[in-house]
Amino acid sequence: MDNKHEVVVVGGGYAGVMAANRLTQRDDVRVRVINPRRVFVPRLRLHQLVGETHEAVVDYEDILAEQVELVVDSVTRIDPAARTVVLDGGGEIAYDYLIYAVGSGIPTPPVPGAAEFAYPVATLEAAQRLRSVLLDTPMTASVTVIGGGPTGVETAAELAEQGRKVTLVCGSSLVPYLHPKARRTAHKYLAKLGVAVIEGPEAAVTEVTRDAVRLGADWTLKSDLTIWTAGFGVPDLAGRSGLRTDAAGRLLTDETLTSVDDDRIIAAGDCSAPSDLPFRMSAYVAYCLGAQAADTLLARLAGEQARPVDLAFPAMCLSFGRDAGIYQLGHKDETAMRLYFGGAVGKKLKEIACEAGIKHLAAEAKKPGSHRWFKDGTYRPARLRAQSDGTAVPVA
Ligand SMILES: Cc1cc2nc3c(=O)[nH]c(=O)nc-3n(C[C@H](O)[C@H](O)[C@H](O)COP(=O)(O)OP(=O)(O)OC[C@H]3O[C@@H](n4cnc5c(N)ncnc54)[C@H](O)[C@@H]3O)c2cc1C
Repeated sequence: MDNKHEVVVVGGGYAGVMAANRLTQRDDVRVRVINPRRVFVPRLRLHQLVGETHEAVVDYEDILAEQVELVVDSVTRIDPAARTVVLDGGGEIAYDYLIYAVGSGIPTPPVPGAAEFAYPVATLEAAQRLRSVLLDTPMTASVTVIGGGPTGVETAAELAEQGRKVTLVCGSSLVPYLHPKARRTAHKYLAKLGVAVIEGPEAAVTEVTRDAVRLGADWTLKSDLTIWTAGFGVPDLAGRSGLRTDAAGRLLTDETLTSVDDDRIIAAGDCSAPSDLPFRMSAYVAYCLGAQAADTLLARLAGEQARPVDLAFPAMCLSFGRDAGIYQLGHKDETAMRLYFGGAVGKKLKEIACEAGIKHLAAEAKKPGSHRWFKDGTYRPARLRAQSDGTAVPVA
């Protein structure tokens, strides 16, 4: 027995890898990352996997610190009382502290037929399956992408650029986060690629069948292949393990990212809901929260007070195939600025942002403790006060 603090990180995505790497600042901590795959999945490339422009995998060797052990398995249950995790492959691992970083995945579509007939994109396996289905689907077939968020737009653009006939059904509006000016540009890029965009009140999907998508009560759109990207899903591991979650299934934590039920469990990334006021789901937020989760644990081990999370979401970026992009700058209140970069510059900035995630993980592996992020300062504390007072949310 070497008396090391045993830390188990559940999930080897952006949040889990960043947290694991950062924890190696201390020699008396043994870190194990449990993840179902032997490779890291940069999920923000999954639409490119579908469009055959990227494989969407990275070797853990390139981003995980040498001292961190990778256990290729899935956790089926956390037992907070016994401080163990149960593995799908059999057996248990004991921990002193657990970082909960299981991310997000495939949404459960709320309309009849969608789970059966529409293909999701949001996990490696789902994207690989969709790509192989597309390989057997004639180029003349009609493809409908449901969901006007970034995943839907990027997937639609990628397939249209291949020469496919794509309709994008957006719901109320195309990428609601975008500033109206940037949204007009997004429409222009999609039109140039030949994507037919349906948005507004009539764009509510009510049913998916084998060869059609029904909108509202009486509009039927022929669809040889339907792709579902709307909404998001979160693994239900926390809830199944008796830990409190928000309505979507994200682990409820305080502002240091510590579970409200157990101070040995710290959450980060898409699966965390600090103060029931979760951050935007994104790779950038995930690896910054991963760093914060590690800092909370390191403070606890040092007998110090952990600091509350302080993180701003500075920008959103979208690709429209391989030649155009939009890099939308944002205010601290998560509304979009008028300022955005489009065209080749937007595309270049999007590519830099995608690569930056991997570079930050690799940098933290080599120099743990080095990652820095954009601070919010006052906006989140004001939002939290407004949440507890029941008053209006302040604008930055
Ligand atoms: C098509 C697409 C495009 C996107 N584009 C962008 C973008 O442009 N910019 C951006 O910032 N974000 C984008 N995102 C979102 C971004 O990918 C996620 O927000 C980010 O991956 C979240 O990181 P994470 O570490 O929280 O979780 P994940 O990256 O989801 O990693 C979680 C890991 O935990 C593993 N896991 C799950 N359950 C268990 C279990 N029980 N036991 C062990 N391991 C488990 C998973 O397999 C996974 O490896 C996109 C997402 C998609 C799908």
